[in-house]
Amino acid sequence: MGTYRVAQVAAAGERFTIAEREQTPPGPGHVRIAVEACGVCHSDAYFVGGVLPGLRFPVVPGHEIAGRIAEVGEGTPEVWRVGDRVAVGWFGGSCRVCTPCRQGDFIVCRNLKVPGGAYEGGYAESVTAPVDALARIPDALSAEDAAPLGCAGVTTFNGLRRSAARPGDRVAVLGVGGLGHLAVRYAVAMGFETIAIARGPAKADFAKQLGAHHYVDSTGSTDVAQALQALGGAHVVLATATDSEAVSATVDGLTPRGELVVIGIDAAPLRITPGQLIMPARTVHGHPSGTAQDVEDTMAFSALHGIRPMNETMPLAQADEAFQRMMAGSARFRMVLTM
Ligand SMILES: [Zn+2]
Ligand SMILES: [Zn+2]
Repeated sequence: MGTYRVAQVAAAGERFTIAEREQTPPGPGHVRIAVEACGVCHSDAYFVGGVLPGLRFPVVPGHEIAGRIAEVGEGTPEVWRVGDRVAVGWFGGSCRVCTPCRQGDFIVCRNLKVPGGAYEGGYAESVTAPVDALARIPDALSAEDAAPLGCAGVTTFNGLRRSAARPGDRVAVLGVGGLGHLAVRYAVAMGFETIAIARGPAKADFAKQLGAHHYVDSTGSTDVAQALQALGGAHVVLATATDSEAVSATVDGLTPRGELVVIGIDAAPLRITPGQLIMPARTVHGHPSGTAQDVEDTMAFSALHGIRPMNETMPLAQADEAFQRMMAGSARFRMVLTM
């Protein structure tokens, strides 16, 4: 059946090398996807570094996959056909038997199949995935634009639409990087009075270009919570920054019954006292990505509102360079590998 190339890591923490795999036909309920683009996500570091439990090396990461169905396995619902444009994100399928799955809450499946861990991911010319992982890509989106929406996009889009904020409410987005630049655009399109919070005066213009109604520079003597309260308080803070200190500093900027929605991962603990939460009845919750249907909704909304991720692309052969650039924070928002 021929071969295809992957960018793999042979052992935890090693650099990427290009390897060849033999093509095998997809099993029942699976499709083989000819990958056209795959985003590089910060959480790929957990796969490359061997941090996630149960990883087997060599590892091929990549959970922001966009391409076309090349082959359909037996027992696959007829809605999926060869040639269909599909994306597979962080949600790479669920087990259907754990308690959350039986409750229909697939994104918190105890055996969630994340591409790159449960099966080889999208740093590859070919990926075989279960059909419950598939999201249909609208015609208006290129593969490069669709790919990051399977993780960065759906996490911010879903985090906002599942929050307590209603049109007209004030929503603050902490950080305007790979996740945050999308979050600001989604927040504006959803009808929220949108506040971008980032470091330094230089980001103010950029935040305004994204459509933010207000900008808070968190550096220097600025007290972020006071700045938010001066605007009337935030009903929701969507924390995309990977900095627990900066996240904690927003809590007193929430309105009564305000919500802090955490989606940026940092190993350091949040510093929030019970008093900050109890009297104003504030809540803090984590938000994980979204299912294939959520990814499809994210892509449809993005197409409708002309929202695209800001990407820098590199060919698969430069996967190592792309990954290093992303991790060093020197990428322009999102690195995307093209096949
Ligand atoms: Zn991700
Ligand atoms: Zn499950």
